[in-house]
Amino acid sequence: VNDQDLLKFHREIVAIPSESHREKALCDFLERWLAEHGAVPVRAGNNVYAVAGERGPLLCFNSHFDTVDAAAGWTRPPHEPAVEGGRVFGLGSNDAKASVAAMTAAFLRWRESAATAGIRLVLALVCEEETGGEGAELLVPELVRRGLKPDAAVVGEPTGLEVAVAQKGLLIVEVERKGRACHAAHAKALGVRNPIVDLAADLLALGKVDLGPPHPLLGEATMEPTVLAAGSARNSVPGEATCILDLRTNPDRSHEDLVARLRKTGAQIRVVSDRLRPYAIEAIAPIVGAARRARPEASLIGSRGVSDLVFFAAAGVPTVKVGPGRTERSHTADEFVLESEILDGARFYERLARAWEVLMTEERHGAALGSW
Ligand SMILES: [Zn+2]
Repeated sequence: VNDQDLLKFHREIVAIPSESHREKALCDFLERWLAEHGAVPVRAGNNVYAVAGERGPLLCFNSHFDTVDAAAGWTRPPHEPAVEGGRVFGLGSNDAKASVAAMTAAFLRWRESAATAGIRLVLALVCEEETGGEGAELLVPELVRRGLKPDAAVVGEPTGLEVAVAQKGLLIVEVERKGRACHAAHAKALGVRNPIVDLAADLLALGKVDLGPPHPLLGEATMEPTVLAAGSARNSVPGEATCILDLRTNPDRSHEDLVARLRKTGAQIRVVSDRLRPYAIEAIAPIVGAARRARPEASLIGSRGVSDLVFFAAAGVPTVKVGPGRTERSHTADEFVLESEILDGARFYERLARAWEVLMTEERHGAALGSW
């Protein structure tokens, strides 16, 4: 796969629409394309993966090929990639088809010397990232079941090739107050408590809960009320009031701990979702070292956005998130990526695999010496 093949492949995958839950056509294409280039793709739903290498620890390259729906304001057809001045425009060109293309090229290039390598590589391309990670949530346990639990993973998302070593979690809870519906004119006389007023008091109390100290890379954990619901008629006291809270959490405080702290205020809390856990990896982990060797000028950053990284972390796989393109361009009208970013990305991933092999070999020798 030379640079021209890589850029053509990227344009081809941008041209195939793959909004979340409508990824079959693109997954079919990826499966076919990998097979045509000598890999042995395996399908799991609308996820596809391929393994290279014979022995040694397993490194996973993961990215997602679904996209959000086109935002309002596109000035060009989102599914007709156009190249202008080195920019490739198209829906998903940056998030995350640049990573998909770069990782695929790096995988195939690395594969040429896989027979003599001391590591194995699995390329895992998944669907449904943008709607909550159902693709990776299915594929990661599937890899584990098939004896392919990665020893480390790289999640490809547009980070400008900076290396994300910490990621915020997302905890969603609902606060609820129940009351008794009645006519607004009689509520006082009937002694009915208005659940809207009680909920307002809950929100003020919840706002004072300590969410933990700021994280050096992620900043403060946050809690924002986002969806408030109560009442439908101007002259009725409603029977209930609810509010959704969106919490962006830090790795030093577990979701269980946070929920306990919220409940301590006396508010009725229902957990809507706590599966997207916060994450941080030690800077001394070999996968972080490999990323730094592959790109010494890279900074280690924290990421506020949630990604498929959580499903690797949940399986106990040391993981970093790094990829070509810019997060600010994701989900925007006229999304684009630079051709140079895609090419740099592919070379970076290939260097990263080779650096990880060196570090893992050193670690094995170190362990052998230690036990000896
Ligand atoms: Zn993405």
